[in-house]
Amino acid sequence: MSRNGRVAGKGALLLVSWFLFFSFCSKSHWGDPMKRHEFTAALGKLLVDMILKGERPLLDWVKRSHEEQARLFEQGLSKCDGVNKLSRHQRACAADILFLNEAGNGICEPIKGWGYWHDRWEQFGGKPMIDWDKGHFEG
Ligand SMILES: [Zn+2]
Repeated sequence: MSRNGRVAGKGALLLVSWFLFFSFCSKSHWGDPMKRHEFTAALGKLLVDMILKGERPLLDWVKRSHEEQARLFEQGLSKCDGVNKLSRHQRACAADILFLNEAGNGICEPIKGWGYWHDRWEQFGGKPMIDWDKGHFEG
């Protein structure tokens, strides 16, 4: 191998190492919550993937005010009271996704199933599925 080839090889190795280091050290791999811009980018990827695979996703809740969160808690629709226990929706780092049926007049289960879409979400750096709140995608 020529000297230029060895230098190029070391450069490629350095680049791959740098990529692996920063991928491994990114916050989502350590279980820390995503920043809002990271969440927005991941949610965009998820929605595009859903549409390309034939789903009809509808964004329901994304950002909630403290008052909206408290109202949902009082109605028993959330476990976060919005004051002592904050929801990731209050930081616009969670989205509730519903799926429109083929006729376009009602809500249905996702064609590929909740497990499939939550596995994809985790691949984009999102948190695991909450069994009692399957439409909730949190970063
Ligand atoms: Zn939610």
